[in-house]
Amino acid sequence: MAAETEYEPVIGLEIHVQLKTRTKMFCGCELSFGDPPNTHTCPRCLGLPGTLPVINAQAVHYGIMIGLALGSQIAARSQFHRKNYFYPDLPKGYQISQYDVPLCSGGRLGEVRIHRVHLEEDAAKLVHAGSSGRIHGAERSAVDFNRGGTPLAEIVTEPDLRSAEAAREWLTLLRTTLRAIGVSDVNMEEGSLRCDANVSLRPVGSSELGTKTELKNMNSFRFLAQGIRAEVERQTELLRSGRPVQQETLHFDPASGSLTPLRSKEEAHDYRYFPEPDLVPLEATAEMIDAARAQLPELPSARAERFAGALGLPAERARELAFRPELGDFFEVALAADAGAEPAALANWMQTLVERLGDGADPASSLVTPQAFASLVAMVSEKAISRDAGREVIELLVAEGGDPGTIVEREGLGAISADDDSLSAVVAAALAADPAAAEQVRSGNMKAMGPLVGYVMRETKGRADGGEINRLIREQLGL
Ligand SMILES: [Zn+2]
Repeated sequence: MAAETEYEPVIGLEIHVQLKTRTKMFCGCELSFGDPPNTHTCPRCLGLPGTLPVINAQAVHYGIMIGLALGSQIAARSQFHRKNYFYPDLPKGYQISQYDVPLCSGGRLGEVRIHRVHLEEDAAKLVHAGSSGRIHGAERSAVDFNRGGTPLAEIVTEPDLRSAEAAREWLTLLRTTLRAIGVSDVNMEEGSLRCDANVSLRPVGSSELGTKTELKNMNSFRFLAQGIRAEVERQTELLRSGRPVQQETLHFDPASGSLTPLRSKEEAHDYRYFPEPDLVPLEATAEMIDAARAQLPELPSARAERFAGALGLPAERARELAFRPELGDFFEVALAADAGAEPAALANWMQTLVERLGDGADPASSLVTPQAFASLVAMVSEKAISRDAGREVIELLVAEGGDPGTIVEREGLGAISADDDSLSAVVAAALAADPAAAEQVRSGNMKAMGPLVGYVMRETKGRADGGEINRLIREQLGL
């Protein structure tokens, strides 16, 4: 019997990023989040007849910064178009966007190629009063135009992702990069970062693309991965049973895990794009590009490469530190403290510190200073204290701050060194207490080391070094 065809997912992302400018894309209204509805509007962003758009220079600057951070080509002249469609959140009846000549083309971030980045304006926000909610005493929907006209950068990737997990991981890198360059709050829950996914399947080994569907607005990293997984499963079932995938736009409901069609996917001609007649082409001058480049900090992917290359950290550890700038910064200050700790050891202990501080905590706002942290790691590396003691000191540092040397002294956590007779005596006691285990180790069963080492650790309250205990056990057994 022939094996079932294996399919591989082909995933591309379209990300909308609200830019953190002071004012809207084409008018002077201030951006707001959480202000009373319809308090940040003017004739222009309400689409009243006779008004004219003016391009927000700060939004263009941010758009160029994004393009440079993603390695895109910046177009010397790009064009705004009208994208026509009717919807209550779009008072003009069209959105000003970019079409055939976007601000940025091409590029790459990590393993994923960038197709384009263009600028556009956000739609207003529809507020639907469900059966429980009421607006002005009735069940209805209302429009909040505060969001209408907010500057957006739309980032479109090539279909280079092959799994839900890879998509989630890559979006994390993108968010970290955008946060590092300071162009957006990039908060998925608040909608300043929104992600759609294009998903198709193809037989493994094929280079042709299958029919894709578009998953709309998954508003958290978890939902993005869940939605893609559900869609890959749905398409796999369709294809295996010989049914075609329809090109359509789908909504993922994380509560039920179900995918429901929103509409059959529009083609570009449905939008009747034409050049925005009220705006001249956007010219990105060399001065504008230089100014944007001058504002770029070291990007997270470059920092990860530096951590892995120059400092020799394992790639995954390097990314963990570089993709959370607050961790990368703390790590670098600790390294610069020059306490004698190796970069790799510091990076390992960063993980312990992060666990103790709790998820998402910024070590810089804890009681642990980078200098104290560095000297603690150096003490462990020099075997002045054991790893277990090191973990205990971290806990105390997190709770009360201070100097690790003082804490070690006060708590009596200093290591019992190998040339200390008392450690030899404890090892001898361990062998005497468990002669069976001792005999097994002597005959070559190294698994029996466990209980013996455990005994010594208990007796010394974790102050002895595991390697030294091992060495003494072998020595005393004549191995
Ligand atoms: Zn306005």
